Amino acid sequence: MNNLKGQVALVTGANSGIGKAVAMELATQGVKVGINYVSNPEATDQIIHDIKKNGGEAIALQADVSKEDQAQGMFKTLIEAYGTIDILVNNAGLQRDSPIQDMTLAQWQLVIDVNLTGQFLCAREAVKEFLKRGVVAERSKAAGKIICMSSVHEVIPWGGHVNYASSKGGIMLLMKSLAQELSPKKIRVNGIGPGAIQTPINHQAWETPEALEKLLTLIPYQRIGQPEDVAKLAVWLASDDSDYITGTTVFIDGGMTLYPGFSTNG
Ligand code: NAD
Repeated sequence: MNNLKGQVALVTGANSGIGKAVAMELATQGVKVGINYVSNPEATDQIIHDIKKNGGEAIALQADVSKEDQAQGMFKTLIEAYGTIDILVNNAGLQRDSPIQDMTLAQWQLVIDVNLTGQFLCAREAVKEFLKRGVVAERSKAAGKIICMSSVHEVIPWGGHVNYASSKGGIMLLMKSLAQELSPKKIRVNGIGPGAIQTPINHQAWETPEALEKLLTLIPYQRIGQPEDVAKLAVWLASDDSDYITGTTVFIDGGMTLYPGFSTNG
């Protein structure tokens, strides 16, 4: 066990895939968790039921993270319920893929709004509370921790997905700039850069044996990642065990960022 017991976290996009696994793992560590979701309340109820069954604490927080009033309302509700916030996991994200010549402004804008602006809006609200409360030594060495779910596509260009790759590149500099600005206030900000993790967002890439075989040519470690792989990293980045780490993206990708195409050529 690490030292997270009694802390409060908000995980955005927490009723599916990576966010769900992160929320469940934080709850297992004794963290009170706000489960943000935008749709599918049944999935959210099931997660909260499972967390409570295991002795954990969680509440549902419906909000579209790209809408300022909804993001602010979500933090207000969380802080009213649990008193404060210690950990923000900025995870909500989506894809709207298209070749550039066919990409609509709506496709571009939605991905930037949810993936990037949503992270800004939630980080801003979390930071207000972190600054107001400051460090409470018995809770954590830091006044607050923000984890930004990025992607290998913060560094790997991705044709046909320029909106998504641009949002993730933006998250990298949002994360680093926040870390630079907030380190003197004892607020840590880090990124997680997943490679291919088996979730609904990328089901076309793994749901047939042919697709999976093609995907594995990009992964030197020769397996697709699981949401729980990312959840364990998120817990560590949220804990004082990583207290001297800020402004860094930790890639969790089975080697996808190692340019596997160069392993026998080039
Ligand atoms: P997912 O589709 O299973 O989960 C995404 C979650 O975000 C869902 O709960 C969805 O409802 C939520 N969401 C979407 N729009 C929202 C909004 N406006 N407000 C609040 N919530 C919203 O996909 P996932 O793979 O779990 O993705 C989670 C994060 O991980 C995303 O940021 C994604 O870009 C990132 N990521 C995933 C992979 C992967 O291989 N699965 C790789 C790299 C990065």
